[in-house]
Amino acid sequence: MLEKVSTTTTADKTVLEDTSVYETAVRQLQAAADKLGIDEGVYQILSRPKRELTVNFPVEMDSGEVQVFTGYRVQHNLAGGPGKGGIRYHPDVTLDEVRALAMWMTWKCAVAGIPYGGAKGGVTCQPKVMSNRELERLTRRYATEISIMIGPDQDIPAPDINTNAQTMAWFMDTISMHRGITVPGVVTGKPLSIGGTLGRVEATGRGVMIAAREAASQIGLALDGARVAVQGYGNVGYYAARLLAEQGCTLVGVADSTSGLYSETGLDADALRQYKDTNGSFAGYTGVDRVSPQELLELPCDILVPAAIEGQVTAANADKIKARIIVEGANGPTTPEADAILYDKGILVVPDILANAGGVVVSYFEWVQNIQHYFWDLDEVNQQMESIMVRSFAEVTELAREEGASMRDAAMLLAVGRVVEAMRVRGVYP
Ligand code: NAD
Repeated sequence: MLEKVSTTTTADKTVLEDTSVYETAVRQLQAAADKLGIDEGVYQILSRPKRELTVNFPVEMDSGEVQVFTGYRVQHNLAGGPGKGGIRYHPDVTLDEVRALAMWMTWKCAVAGIPYGGAKGGVTCQPKVMSNRELERLTRRYATEISIMIGPDQDIPAPDINTNAQTMAWFMDTISMHRGITVPGVVTGKPLSIGGTLGRVEATGRGVMIAAREAASQIGLALDGARVAVQGYGNVGYYAARLLAEQGCTLVGVADSTSGLYSETGLDADALRQYKDTNGSFAGYTGVDRVSPQELLELPCDILVPAAIEGQVTAANADKIKARIIVEGANGPTTPEADAILYDKGILVVPDILANAGGVVVSYFEWVQNIQHYFWDLDEVNQQMESIMVRSFAEVTELAREEGASMRDAAMLLAVGRVVEAMRVRGVYP
């Protein structure tokens, strides 16, 4: 029996404002479309999502109270294959944000040359104050609500901010219960015991490390001794920090959503992870200098890895950035205004749709393994991912050189060109 229905408090910000993150994504598309001279009709198709679903659904909290949550699943473009994209749990999730993230997934899959379209999902919620049982009930109900759009041949979710292998296990189990058979290929980023792949947990961070290594070699920067600062210390940030440290880099700064740390002589990536796991944040960490998550971006360093959320490098701080290379672990961390400033300053920005593609590439391998019921060893996963990252990096670099463009513009030209070609050969139905 329902005792009380209350709604989540975060305001719905789905209106497309000038400053919205979706607007940023559309402006990036527009620039590429202008340069490629694509047909206006094709631009109109690409500038809005193919399909979007908003669901409002109840979840019984541990207290017995029922709360109503809002969730989304957006498929931006499916010309290249089934939808692919993560699921985010965060208080700031809006339809606007999910739309932008879905569009970026279309470009990311195209840059990597993997047979997917772009999709994304999210639930507006406060996962940090919810119990595991509450998160499980939320996940199972959200999975049920969006199940009409999901499937191994339709749309395949994966983890994103505040979701992980356990979330994917609940999601996969829910869809499997509905269908009466185990459907491992419905999500990626699953635990190994139910058809996950070796190498997926660290894949995005590993890809960021490879992108940083390629970028460093391009500007003649030795990785050994290069100073690295990482904003966001979750799945992407931690593995990027740790793997870059293994390459000889010095981790001089890290930040989570509450606070940041700086040490000229270097921080220990694993010790920081352990501290954050135990204490929830870096807030009480002592013995090194403290910086805010924003100040972290402006630290003296060689390589900056934004690995938190969108809109962190803006016109307000781009000029103060001292790094020589920015490798975008996060999706959409740089605004178009900031991009222009960074380009003028000669800072090499490896764009998100290239830099953090390691995750979706290994997700693709997981899906392939699920479909074939045949599993690869870790070396195979890492080698194949590395070869796709290195090839994509070289293709983007070559196009940037030919066009005299930034890596972001080149990556967008490559991606949009590939998607437009897939749309052209498929034609307009009917
Ligand atoms: P996560 O939930 O594991 O970690 C997010 C981290 O960012 C946490 O440490 C959090 O404290 C921090 N954070 C949040 N807001 C912040 C702020 N304002 N300033 C500083 N730190 C902040 O999430 P994740 O999976 O590591 O994802 C991080 C980013 O990488 C997101 O943009 C996500 O879309 C992108 N991404 C993730 C994957 C993946 O495989 N997980 C793949 C590609 C891209």
